[in-house]
Amino acid sequence: MSDVNDQAPVSTAEQQHGGEVAPVNLLGLSPEAMREFCVSIGEKPFRAQQLLKWIHQRGIDDFSEMTDLSKALREKLARVACVQAPEIVSELHSEDGTSKWLVRVAGGSCIETVLIPDNGRRTLCISSQVGCALDCSFCATGKQGFQRDLTAAEIIGQVWLVSKALTASGELIKKAVSNVVMMGMGEPLLNFDNVLASVELMMNDYCYGISKRRVTVSTSGVVPGIDELSRRSDPSLALSLHAPTDELRNVLVPLNKKYPLKQVLAACQRYLDSLPDKKRKITIEYTLIKGVNDSVEHAEQTAHLLKDLPCKINLIPFNPFSLVEYERPSNNGINRFRQVLLQAGYTVTVRTTRGDDIAAACGQLAGEVADRTRRSERYQQLAAARSAAEPQPINVRA
Ligand code: SF4
Repeated sequence: MSDVNDQAPVSTAEQQHGGEVAPVNLLGLSPEAMREFCVSIGEKPFRAQQLLKWIHQRGIDDFSEMTDLSKALREKLARVACVQAPEIVSELHSEDGTSKWLVRVAGGSCIETVLIPDNGRRTLCISSQVGCALDCSFCATGKQGFQRDLTAAEIIGQVWLVSKALTASGELIKKAVSNVVMMGMGEPLLNFDNVLASVELMMNDYCYGISKRRVTVSTSGVVPGIDELSRRSDPSLALSLHAPTDELRNVLVPLNKKYPLKQVLAACQRYLDSLPDKKRKITIEYTLIKGVNDSVEHAEQTAHLLKDLPCKINLIPFNPFSLVEYERPSNNGINRFRQVLLQAGYTVTVRTTRGDDIAAACGQLAGEVADRTRRSERYQQLAAARSAAEPQPINVRA
């Protein structure tokens, strides 16, 4: 005799999900969307918690292994849904412990995800877009052009894949990564809904349960996105500043022409004001480029600019890559800049270059982007023209 659950009726919603319609990928559904999905297939909303735990805490993608669900529900899920992560193409490990994964997403392009172990923390730097449309002048991703936004499944999929890779079979994957920073490829706040769903999954107790202080959304200054984030969620916020004046920032971060410094800093302050915890601060990212933005005067201007914003400052010595002529400042230059900020009372860290030997350092992520903008082609032509114009060594015969 069959179990009554085996006879569970197929709901109208299930019929919509079934048949010729592509299965719903549960990996990228936010907790709220997962509840709606459960209701849509005729199940109680609390099933969402069970599904979230199986997928994000245990790393299970096969419904038949979800043993606290009835057989009928498992079979129904197999008909209408899937748990589909992007695919790891390659994995590189640096001598300093940093690891980089090249991850292929739908359409064939590849993004990069970097894990940085440090003092017991395991920080994962993830991508939010395939390439980036913003073209900051010091950033390798920007030079790759832009293809598309990542789906929520492709964003959280990076956390899921790396967590699984770091966890022994049969163990919970939820504690494998302690911190997540959205500082990989792309501008997160230009892919708002998918980033938000992913952030909610990272912070949700039925999923990874990472503290909001340890999930950081980094923006180059998308003002409406900062305001929307303050209305919808409360992860940590980092601002890629890189210059203390509009004139210089317009060159380094072209988005500044649309959202100038005054507007961006006001949005950061509104973000802090919206948080119940008044001790939280904005992280300011400042890439130091030799002879461009690293003088004592720049440091003094930065100290003055940020004087009213609760923040801590992270200095990132520029990591060179082909296609641009910028250089890393000397250690003396970095220290001089840092001292000015320290004396002005800021908490300042200098990011140690990590993963340099595997091109995983900050600003070096490039992936493989099917560029819709043809920007990468233009930059390669420029670099080739530059190198052709350089004086060639004279061949002296003995
Ligand atoms: S720094 Fe960030 S926003 Fe700017 S081009 Fe690179 S990925 Fe895009």
